[in-house]
Amino acid sequence: MLRAQLPVNEVERQQALDRLELVDTPAEPCLDAITRLARELFGVKTALVSLVDNDRQWFKSRQGLDIAETPRSISYCSYAVLKDKPLFIENSDKDPRFAGKEIALSNPGARFYAGWPLHDGEGLPLGTLCLADPQPRRLTARQKCQLRDLAYLAESYLHLQHNAQQADELRDALDREQRKAMLDPLTQLWNRAGLLHFLPLQRAATERNGLRLGLIYCDLDHFKQVNDRHGHDAGDRVLWESARRMSAAVRPQDVVTRNGGEEFVILTQVRTPQELLQIAERIRLAMAEQPIPLDDTELRQTVSLGCALLGSEEDSNDALKRADQALYRAKDSGRNRSELAP
Ligand code: GH3
Ligand code: MG
Ligand code: MG
Repeated sequence: MLRAQLPVNEVERQQALDRLELVDTPAEPCLDAITRLARELFGVKTALVSLVDNDRQWFKSRQGLDIAETPRSISYCSYAVLKDKPLFIENSDKDPRFAGKEIALSNPGARFYAGWPLHDGEGLPLGTLCLADPQPRRLTARQKCQLRDLAYLAESYLHLQHNAQQADELRDALDREQRKAMLDPLTQLWNRAGLLHFLPLQRAATERNGLRLGLIYCDLDHFKQVNDRHGHDAGDRVLWESARRMSAAVRPQDVVTRNGGEEFVILTQVRTPQELLQIAERIRLAMAEQPIPLDDTELRQTVSLGCALLGSEEDSNDALKRADQALYRAKDSGRNRSELAP
């Protein structure tokens, strides 16, 4: 098997990445906003925040790519990290460094590639903000500066977030392998195992903060029809975009999970039932107000939501059941609605 060349400071570099506890964690709305902007600004098919981890590159944020990771040996980002310099490939078929090599042959979607390294606070390269497209192209000097600026924003966000995390005991409770088993690869949200893990922790945190834990069940309306009409891949794309919108509609301390299929559960710290209902409405509108772009069309996807406020003596499972029942009432009353459990 082809092996990736490693930088001389690989041990320190990998330790730096491990310390940040970024790999195998859910997508973040802020980084997604940066990759989305990058994709629009440069008009490319793919924009990624790629982290170079042991023998793979793992995507913390991805637009225009359906896979969560690829081997390090065929990763241009890994090359940018090796040199710790921005990497520009106008046309991999003609580039003397890559043409005809396995890395170029494995990446037809990245005939054009531009990657800007992202560093930790000590300056060790972790991965890149990168652009890729099957069509060759050349970035102007000005565009290279734009990519640099976006990379600077992404890097600054990672540093800020790391500092905030150090005060966050939720994360420390999980090691990397556990975290991986709790991540849904399609949506890059926590899965059901993640929900069950975070529920008691969120409950405790909420009590410490003198707040109450709100549970929101959120189910896509008539989603089977999306698969039937537009195909399963389009359905997956809708699930992906829905996950992004839900995460962006809640606060950073809230937990968004994919409970299974096209059903999501959100844990949110609130003061009152009205506040809980407001958050559910924010999610509902984030879905209903903007259509979701698909390859050749766009689609309006609504959701129905059921909310319950966890009682101080109540078993969490009972509260989840109440939220689920409220969801069924929302469905019964015509969908695209939020209902609060009594
Ligand atoms: P309702 O408004 O009552 O919720 O109707 P619905 O069509 O959304 O509900 P139903 O339970 O009948 O269908 C859910 C569909 O979700 C069926 C299943 O094919 C689809 N689904 C579940 N998981 C996935 C997935 O990972 N990807 C895709 N594309 N579809 C999925
Ligand atoms: Mg549904
Ligand atoms: Mg369902």
